[in-house]
Amino acid sequence: MLKIVDHALVQSNLTKIRNKNIDRENFRTGIIEIGKLIGYEFADSLERDPITVQTPLGIANGIKIKDMENIMVVSILRAAIPLVEGISKVFKEAEYGVIGAWRNEKPPFDAKIEYIKLPDLENKIVIVADPMLATGGTMDSILYEIKKRGTPKRLIIFNIISAIPGIKKILENHGEVEIYTCSVDEKLNENGYIIPGLGDVGDICFGKPCL
Ligand code: URA
Repeated sequence: MLKIVDHALVQSNLTKIRNKNIDRENFRTGIIEIGKLIGYEFADSLERDPITVQTPLGIANGIKIKDMENIMVVSILRAAIPLVEGISKVFKEAEYGVIGAWRNEKPPFDAKIEYIKLPDLENKIVIVADPMLATGGTMDSILYEIKKRGTPKRLIIFNIISAIPGIKKILENHGEVEIYTCSVDEKLNENGYIIPGLGDVGDICFGKPCL
């Protein structure tokens, strides 16, 4: 399942952070904001239990969102850090996992996963946050690692931009996965970057690594 989050606030923040002249502070702030807004959109897909509430003057019908305490957010280091900051403003009771992953800079851009710390994910709603879904190679490996450790109730990816090759790979190999993204960009360049995309999200947020 592919869901494009088309809300005007998401799209205007995305437009701002696509600008090559944006500074680091505003880039990160835009990503935090987008993380929060994707979180809102996703929260609307959660089941609701009808409940009543005693107001000072009577009884009102209301809802309780099921599974709000059953969410785990997995941060893919390092680019997902500001995205997860935004998501955490919505899912305040969530558990958090961390995966350190990077991909080779040359084709076939194979993934290296070096660090995995995940709470028990059996029957949880697991949200994997990574701003860019490019070739899908890294995310594919991450999803296999997650599924080795248990069976989530739902497995969702939050991206800011997804490219068609990555979407195809993930939905072919992991048909149960739900992708929430703000834009589908068509292609990748020879270095595996999404075009037009955002550039290197980790480098813009944090600086270029020296090694
Ligand atoms: N990672 C990024 O930061 N940007 C891309 O375009 C692809 C992967």
